[in-house]
Amino acid sequence: MAEQVQSGMAPDKGMVEIDTTECKGCGMCVAACNIGVLSLAGWLNHQGYHPAEYSGRGCNGCGLCFYACPEPGAIRVYKLAPAAAA
Ligand code: SF4
Ligand code: SF4
Repeated sequence: MAEQVQSGMAPDKGMVEIDTTECKGCGMCVAACNIGVLSLAGWLNHQGYHPAEYSGRGCNGCGLCFYACPEPGAIRVYKLAPAAAA
């Protein structure tokens, strides 16, 4: 977060976490994300699927990827609270 403030970029409104052991690599979340911050990894998980990955920046917390995912527990979305004024 401090890095974003220093660079002048607006802080992200959301964040996603993907459990790569639960992900089946179906790509539904990637297709659902309007801003394109999700992709499928180039590596395989223990089940032989390419799991989804978050780019690490830009999520707005809309939750579309969460609702698109057919695997319970594979993806979590967090809404980030705005930073308090200094
Ligand atoms: S919560 Fe919305 S913006 Fe964030 S990764 Fe999921 S679909 Fe994309
Ligand atoms: S929708 Fe769920 S199971 Fe499919 S790639 Fe995304 S996180 Fe993995």
